[in-house]
Amino acid sequence: MSGIRCPNCEKFTSRENGDPETDVEHSVENDGLKSTVNFSGSVRMIRNCADCSGELLESNQDIEAEITLEHQEGCDLSDDLDVEIDSFEADESGGGRYSKNKITASALVHVTCPVCKVTTENNISVSESAGNFDSLV
Ligand SMILES: [Zn+2]
Ligand SMILES: [Zn+2]
Repeated sequence: MSGIRCPNCEKFTSRENGDPETDVEHSVENDGLKSTVNFSGSVRMIRNCADCSGELLESNQDIEAEITLEHQEGCDLSDDLDVEIDSFEADESGGGRYSKNKITASALVHVTCPVCKVTTENNISVSESAGNFDSLV
């Protein structure tokens, strides 16, 4: 029995992943027909009580990622790339007998040039072992 007692509902329960909270900024650098989008910020991953959804554990991770976009020949690129980050989602892997649980928070990022319409999609993510989360209770 690996449950921990939840201080809210006082049951021994399992944990489930809450929606990650994020604060991610980006900046764009242009070089010829190539744009580099740099992402930086923080992601807070949360483990909740599976019964009452109270927050039990958290992990705060820095996120850094770089995505490049190659423009079409002749594109008169501006700094005004459309950059969209989907909501981060938490995913759990491992947890078998010989592997430790690992939580990954990832989001799909869409970068589009409004001039030449080139577009790219990339995943950005952070991960941490479930055992390294900090207790909130
Ligand atoms: Zn609970
Ligand atoms: Zn372009």
